[in-house]
Amino acid sequence: CGIVGYIGLKQAQNVLLEGLEKLEYRGYDSAGVAIYNGDEIGVKKTKGRLADLANHLDQKALVGQLGIGHTRWATHGKPSDENSHPHVDGEEQFAVVHNGIIENYIELKEELIAKGHHFTSETDTEVIAKLLSDLHDGNLISTVKKVVKRLRGAYALGIISNYEPDKLVAVRLASPLVVGIGEGENFIASDIPAILKHTRDVYILEDGEMAVLDQHHVQLMTLEGTPVNRDVLRVTWDM
Ligand code: GLU
Repeated sequence: CGIVGYIGLKQAQNVLLEGLEKLEYRGYDSAGVAIYNGDEIGVKKTKGRLADLANHLDQKALVGQLGIGHTRWATHGKPSDENSHPHVDGEEQFAVVHNGIIENYIELKEELIAKGHHFTSETDTEVIAKLLSDLHDGNLISTVKKVVKRLRGAYALGIISNYEPDKLVAVRLASPLVVGIGEGENFIASDIPAILKHTRDVYILEDGEMAVLDQHHVQLMTLEGTPVNRDVLRVTWDM
């Protein structure tokens, strides 16, 4: 239901939790974050409130400056720790958060299980994590393009990978997503309030577009790979 992503020099955990809090009004049943710590991706997720997630993270922080966070409104699979996002592949090389619905997830899941992938949740979303590892061709951008070609439905995605930990990738199809442009840091979010504390300069993604963020740049392109030139929207309102 809510997505926040961060790449920069701050501790991602704080940016993600604060951002998700700003999206709480939308309603949710579980929450989680995935953060790259310079070596591997750590995931903490739980059924319940953001305060519950924050308590877990107070006891054992996830350190790192690249991460994605999610508040879930379950559509496929009951609210549970396992079904919470982010979802990862078997090797934990990719983590994904997803808003929306993957309509063809059952056939994708059967195909991936036949190939030896092991599923740990009942969600439609988990097929995306497994597809990322299954279709990985050594290049994150082209891998994401191959994955989304297989998906039918509505989705806003935030993706990180420890193969290319200098990148945060976002994709939008029929589910809102914005990019926040900072100085030496960049953001994604399903809605502007989540990042307004950090920046007022945003790109609104359109359907069929993808954003690739590093600490200093944001590249927008269509899923076919055509570069997109979009004017920066300056947010003038306050919360
Ligand atoms: N369909 C996904 C799930 O049930 C995402 C739901 C959402 O948008 O929060 O896990």
